[in-house]
Amino acid sequence: MATIDGLPPLREVIRAHDLVARKQLGQNFLLDLNLTAKIARQAGDLSGCDVLEVGPGPGGLTRGLLAEGARRVLAVEKDARCLPALAEIQAAAPGRLEVIHGDALEVDVLTHLTPPIRVVANLPYNIGTELLIRWLTPAAWPPFWESLTLMFQKEVAERIVAMPRSAHYGRLALLAQWRCEARIAMVLPPEAFTPAPKVHSAVVHLTRLPDPRFPADEKVLSRVTAMAFNQRRKMLRASLKGLGPDIEARLEAVGIAPTARAEEIGLEQFCALARDVARG
Ligand code: SAM
Repeated sequence: MATIDGLPPLREVIRAHDLVARKQLGQNFLLDLNLTAKIARQAGDLSGCDVLEVGPGPGGLTRGLLAEGARRVLAVEKDARCLPALAEIQAAAPGRLEVIHGDALEVDVLTHLTPPIRVVANLPYNIGTELLIRWLTPAAWPPFWESLTLMFQKEVAERIVAMPRSAHYGRLALLAQWRCEARIAMVLPPEAFTPAPKVHSAVVHLTRLPDPRFPADEKVLSRVTAMAFNQRRKMLRASLKGLGPDIEARLEAVGIAPTARAEEIGLEQFCALARDVARG
């Protein structure tokens, strides 16, 4: 079920509404409805869920989400030019699509959603990482969403799922994997989009865990990993000097060699260090 009855192909929609893609809005559209349905399926069974979509654009992924059975879709779009195309989808799926015209960084979506909630989006590249970090760092855990199924530039996707001792390993991997299962679900070539971006893209699927894998205070963990990775080539006894004069002893106490570098240290050890630092 890849289309909603009666709606024209996306190329026609784009032509009819003169939706020339704007680079400053990160507009790279998906026009193949088989592909958008496949992306929607990566989010799992949507039938009993509200779905938050950021940046529906002309509505290719929105149509995929509705066709795959989402109970309701809340779509937040900044570009007013897309609203008439989205209104046509609303008419074809009565009561199942709400569109908010606004900036996803500013809109309070929670009052518009009923749990269980999944987030599925082909994110504008300029705010993708910022949104992900916000979704991963709510005031309290568990967050409002059960899963995030998000399209990023492939390089960002690799940073989210990276393991220690790999080139992409860093703060984003630690933050994502601390309280989520994270995996790359699909890789898409530039030609999948109109216009084609310069790089490959990838869909990352993150499922929230009920609790963190290892206990730690989020703010302390974030401070420790920021210091460690801001100078990732340095030994930890140097990069973490700001944590106190006894940093070598602290590192040793939690089983980290003071001469190790940030990229060699796994999540469990970073959490142990954050707990030690939090004790003062
Ligand atoms: N979902 C559509 C698709 O897959 O074809 C479009 C994806 S396109 C990569 C990103 C979309 O996000 C564009 O429609 C753009 O207008 C929208 N957008 C950009 N910045 C935004 C923001 N701050 N808040 C909401 N939407 C935004």
